[in-house]
Amino acid sequence: MKFYSTNKSVEPVTLDRALLQGQAADKGLYLPESIPAISKDLLKNARDMSYEEIAAKVLISYSEGIFTEDEIIEICTDAYDFEVPVEKVVNRSHILRLDHGPTASFKDFAARFMGRAIGRLVAKRGEELLILTATSGDTGSAVANAFLGVEGIRVLVLFPVDEVSVRQRKQMTTLGDNVTMIAVNGKFDDCQALVKQAFGDGDLNDLNLSSANSINIGRLLPQSVYYIYAASRIADIAGGEKTVISVPSGNFGNLMGGILAFKSGLPVEKFVVSTNANDEVPVFFRTGDYNKIEPSKVCISNAMNVGHPSNLARLVDLYGGHIDEKGILAKVPDMNAINRDFFSVSIDDNSTRETIKRVYNDYNIVLEPHGAVGWKGLEHFFEANPQLVNAPAISLETAHPAKFPDEVISATGVDPKLPKALMGLDDKDESFGNMNALYSEFKDILKKDFR
Ligand SMILES: *Cc1c(COP(=O)(O)O)cnc(C)c1O
Repeated sequence: MKFYSTNKSVEPVTLDRALLQGQAADKGLYLPESIPAISKDLLKNARDMSYEEIAAKVLISYSEGIFTEDEIIEICTDAYDFEVPVEKVVNRSHILRLDHGPTASFKDFAARFMGRAIGRLVAKRGEELLILTATSGDTGSAVANAFLGVEGIRVLVLFPVDEVSVRQRKQMTTLGDNVTMIAVNGKFDDCQALVKQAFGDGDLNDLNLSSANSINIGRLLPQSVYYIYAASRIADIAGGEKTVISVPSGNFGNLMGGILAFKSGLPVEKFVVSTNANDEVPVFFRTGDYNKIEPSKVCISNAMNVGHPSNLARLVDLYGGHIDEKGILAKVPDMNAINRDFFSVSIDDNSTRETIKRVYNDYNIVLEPHGAVGWKGLEHFFEANPQLVNAPAISLETAHPAKFPDEVISATGVDPKLPKALMGLDDKDESFGNMNALYSEFKDILKKDFR
């Protein structure tokens, strides 16, 4: 299987190249040339299979010739050793809790696969790699945790100085070893732009840069697995029963995982695309006009403060259009198909807080701000489509409530119990650098400290 670039100016590559490169040389993003269909057997048996068994089946279909079946099984068994709860809320609507991994956000699902897969590739080739990553709060810790101590790999993470919670920051800055953190005086979009500029900079080729952001296809493939897993638990997927799935979205990597599952044959009624006040995508889906939001708006669901999502390039490509890395829409995708598959909605902070409070009062379920955006989006969908209110439905809870104690306590009065991942963090010592959102400054650091 080969992977092509959405900008289509370079030759397709095999999975190992795509994983090691992150972004294609023409600044496009990689997508599989054809999306392998979920086998009838898997559709039929998924409900009785464990998470890691489903993961191995799905990921083998993308890895032929690069990893053996045994290697993929080993990677998945090792990576997915935590619970993936599907909790009933009301009717047939459920919360999929993706927050039980070692850093308590859904980013663990992809990071743990990538850490192991890339670690193996680097070891086989005897190469060294510098993983550059921008984070809006959770990618940094998931990636740093997954690559911590992996031979041949260094990790450098940029985060926006004022837009991550203290616990999110401490999860990244207390690790040390082969992991370096830099606070950027700017926003997530600035961090993301700096990282992308470094990838496009020929002067830095000798650093062997790769990305663990969702520009890397290695993020999306593992993220397709939990859609199949969760739907198999609540719907008759072999019989074609369709599920409504709400995805709280920022950079759209999570949603892209869902789209891959859908295009490979998972029956989906509709994806509810739930954003915070950064509503550039809902507006685009409604009007066909795309305008990035600059600077992005600061919302309590901070991991979704994205004014120009990278993965829009992939989504637009899959629907027959073209948008480049700067956000210029050269070819409008099939908007009818987009509006057939997606229901998009933007949820502001007031509504997010109201949802955390109400869901706790009505159902005794504690959500954090990102999950609340997802749940509220699902409610909007059912208001617009009351005939479907008893359809199987899933809303993704993407982080653990204890990562956002202030918002959760003020909405519910509950101080969420710390998961293992966050215990002892409050007392640990931090270490991180600081810089302005200037490429010249970033490049100096790369040349001085990482060459
Ligand atoms: C990263 C993140 C999101 C957004 O996911 P995308 O793949 O960027 O759309 C949502 N919630 C949490 C908690 C996150 O960490």
